[in-house]
Formats: sequence, structure tokens, C-alpha cells
Amino acid sequence: MKSIARIFHGIRQARSSRRNFLKSSAVAGAYLIGSRALASSSRSSVIVVGAGAFGGWTALHLLRKGAKVTLLDAWGPGNSRASSGGETRVIRATYGSGRIYTQMAARALQLWQENEQRWNVKLFSRSGVLWMTGSDDSYERAALPLMTEAGVRFEKLSAAECGKRWPQINFDGISWSVYEPDSGYLAARRGCEAVLNAFLKEGGEYRQAQITPGLTASNHIHGIKLGSGELLNADSYVFACGPWLGKVFSFLAPIVTPTRQEVFFFGTAAGDLRFNDAQLPVWGDDSKRELDGFPGKHWFYGIPGNHWRGFKIADDTRGAVIDPTTMEREISSEGLAAARAYLRFRFPSLGDAPLVESRVCQYENSTDQNFILDHHPEAENAWIVGGGSGHGFKHGPAFGEIVSDAVLGLKAPPVDFKLDRC
Ligand SMILES: Cc1cc2nc3c(=O)[nH]c(=O)nc-3n(C[C@H](O)[C@H](O)[C@H](O)COP(=O)(O)OP(=O)(O)OC[C@H]3O[C@@H](n4cnc5c(N)ncnc54)[C@H](O)[C@@H]3O)c2cc1C
Repeated sequence: MKSIARIFHGIRQARSSRRNFLKSSAVAGAYLIGSRALASSSRSSVIVVGAGAFGGWTALHLLRKGAKVTLLDAWGPGNSRASSGGETRVIRATYGSGRIYTQMAARALQLWQENEQRWNVKLFSRSGVLWMTGSDDSYERAALPLMTEAGVRFEKLSAAECGKRWPQINFDGISWSVYEPDSGYLAARRGCEAVLNAFLKEGGEYRQAQITPGLTASNHIHGIKLGSGELLNADSYVFACGPWLGKVFSFLAPIVTPTRQEVFFFGTAAGDLRFNDAQLPVWGDDSKRELDGFPGKHWFYGIPGNHWRGFKIADDTRGAVIDPTTMEREISSEGLAAARAYLRFRFPSLGDAPLVESRVCQYENSTDQNFILDHHPEAENAWIVGGGSGHGFKHGPAFGEIVSDAVLGLKAPPVDFKLDRC
């Protein structure tokens, strides 16, 4: 096995010749990878491994662009182990100086809405998103011009204005907030299932199977092996295996780290609608709060009650490194106590609310929390897609579009997602 450094030395050399090629190419807008370019009109075959937010949408876009696509997943789209599992995910465009994410969030929201209409399923709920900031507001200040540029509507609200609008929240320690009226939350596992249903209806093939990549030789992956021993072949392969990327390719183990994350759902008093999505937006608290008895600064966010489920709250702080296959998914008493301590402060009337549901999930963190979209360093027909890092779900439709363009040779992937930065 080559060292990671040698692998990336190789990839850098290959990229430098590709860059030179692109510079000398007079074909505006065309993205051709030497002789390997795939014309979108020819029916190129692609196998996508992983039917989560990233793989599912990638497969659907590839299909819609004319490719013959097989989608594979070990346990199914948005399964109980997958990072895309569970009930809901936030969609917001406040992203600090991350222009690419603000733009993708805006595009993704458009695609979620277009497709839910097409499928006649409700996946997006426009509850609004309230992003609260403390004394260090550099992230939020950087976000505002990029939101304007991306055409995302927002209001800048003082803590006093927020207090008037949402008296259920205690705004102590908050200097001001960004309110995105058109954002909200998405259905998570139901969203993945809807994408699979559309993919099947539009002519894609789906199989539930665990795979291992076939032999890598001559800068190509030669097929993928199913658990049954069957070998499947295609022109290109997309590995969108979420937190399992480091298991599928050992060189990715130090690059994509799965961390344990806990999610709590608290029950409101009977008939109390103040914490439901009709009266409260999705919220994020960037005041980096310290909690008595719980070390470090905390970054809580939440989704108001919906579909008669509880009020969701989670700490974005990264937990312990885990194995997504074997992890026991039981919450910790410390995690629950910290969530309660936070609730008591920020949502005082929920301080004694009972826990009605919980989940343990994992983030699949890249080294800098940015996404990954790049060739396998030793196989130009294979793509690595992942690194959602706790914020990937919303982007599924927009990121999948970018991935499909890259795989079909239609548009170069953004440099921000290259592997050799990790
Ligand atoms: C608690 C929590 C809260 C989050 N909150 C938000 C949020 O509010 N907003 C947001 O935008 N994002 C959020 N995220 C992040 C987001 O959910 C993830 O970044 C995103 O879902 C990752 O999707 P994925 O397709 O890369 O991975 P996954 O959904 O994990 O999909 C990977 C798939 O690959 C399959 N697979 C793996 N190995 C193999 C193999 N060898 N063979 C076959 N199949 C295989 C798995 O079964 C799995 O279905 C959150 C994540 C968590 C855990």
C-alpha cells in the first residue's frame, strides 16, 4: 500500500498535466479529462455506492443526464445507521464566508421544492431559520453579503426585536440574529426514500448489497464486488459511502472521521403550541455558550416540534470517534444533562420537559469540514464523494448535480472539494 503522501504526489502530478491541458484547451466551458471524457449523450454506465443524501441525489441527476445508473446500498437509503437517517435536517444559507455553501444551499432549496412538487410529497417545511450570534459575530457578518449575492432573503434583527417576536426564547448573551424567512427543515430518511422512488420510476436500478471495490490497476478500478461474490462493471464508479468511506478505502480513514452525535426530542405541555413549527423557527445558537458543569463551549441548534413529534435539540460539538456499523445507539446521561442545562437557560419553559425520543447518529467529518468530490487518487474512473461533516444533507440535490456534472465530464468540480487539501 502506498503512503498517503505518495498517493497525493501522484494525484498532484496528474492534476498539473490536466491543468495544463485545460489551459491550452480553447473549448469554453468544456471539461474534458483527456481521452476519458464522457459525452452526456452517449449512454455511459455509472455505479453509485451509497443511497444517502449525496449518493441518492447523484444517482438521480446522472440518470436525468442520460447515464445508465445502478445504485447500491448495504442497508438502504436513510437507514438507521446512515448519516442521512432520522427525521429532520436544517436547511439554511447562513454560512459565514463559505460562498460555495450559501450558493449550494440556495440551489438545493430550489431543487428540493421543485422535486417535492413533481413527486407530490412534502419534504420541505418553511418554518424560517433564526441564527443567533454572540459577541463574536464575524461568521454572521461574513455571511450577509454572500446571502444577498445568492438571492437569499434575510432580516437582521436585534436581540430586542427577536425577544418581541419569539418570547419563548431567552435572548440573553445574544447580540443580534439573522432570520431567513424562506428556509426551514427537510424530511431526512423520507427525503432519501423519495429520491430512491423517483430514481426507480425514472428507470434507475437499485440493489441492496454491501460492496467492496474491485482491483485497482492501470489507474482504474476494475469492477466492484457484491457480498454474494458477483462482480459488477461500469464506465465510472461513485463512492458516496458517508461515514464508511474510510472502511471502503483505507487511505480515507484519516481523512473522513465518524463522530458520535446525540439528538434529543423533548415533549411540550399538552396543548402548548409555542414550540411547534407554526410559532417557532428552526434555530442555531452561535453564541458559543459555556454551561456550568459541562466543559467547553457549546453550539446548540434545534428544530421546532412538527408532525406531532417533540422539540428537537442537538449539540454540534464533535463527539467520540466511532464505528458506524457497530456503534450502540444509546444516548449518554451527560449529553442529556447538558441539553437540559441549555434548555433551562435558552428555552426556560422547557427546562423540565420530558425526553420523548432520542437518536444517536454520526457526522462524517472531513479534516476541514468541507465536502469531498474528487477522483480516487489511483483510479481515474472512480470518484470519492462525502465529508458532509454535519451539514451535508440540505445540499444533497445541489451537490449531487455538481457530482453528476463532474462524473459525466460536463463541468470541472469546484477546487474547494479536492482531496489533496485534506
Ligand atoms: C445528528 C445529525 C444531524 C445533522 N444535521 C444536519 C442538518 O441539520 N442539516 C444538514 O444539512 N445536515 C445535517 N447533518 C449532516 C448530514 O445528515 C450528512 O452530512 C449527510 O446526510 C451525509 O450523507 P451521505 O450520503 O454522505 O452519507 P450516508 O447517509 O451515511 O449514506 C452513505 C450510504 O452508504 C452506504 N454504504 C456504506 N458503505 C457501503 C458499502 N460498502 N456497500 C454498500 N453501501 C454502503 C450506507 O448504508 C449509507 O446508506 C446531520 C447529521 C447528523 C448525524
